[in-house]
Amino acid sequence: MQECELIENCEFYNGQLKGNKEQIEAMKEKYCKVNNLNCARYMIFMALGKEKMPNELFPHQKDRAYLLISQE
Ligand code: SF4
Repeated sequence: MQECELIENCEFYNGQLKGNKEQIEAMKEKYCKVNNLNCARYMIFMALGKEKMPNELFPHQKDRAYLLISQE
């Protein structure tokens, strides 16, 4: 699978993880570089659009993503 198209500009990495290089790289290896379809943020991007992605939403928080999508 190819890299997520949002990897260069994902707000997530400029938010609460900014400066935490180790954690950022771990997330990128798990989600952004291999499987963005498993990312809660990408799920919202696809379902609702980029403007609806909460900045603080972590890629593993799929339950929260499902809830946000179901409430739209
Ligand atoms: S956190 Fe999710 S939406 Fe952001 S770049 Fe990574 S895979 Fe894409």
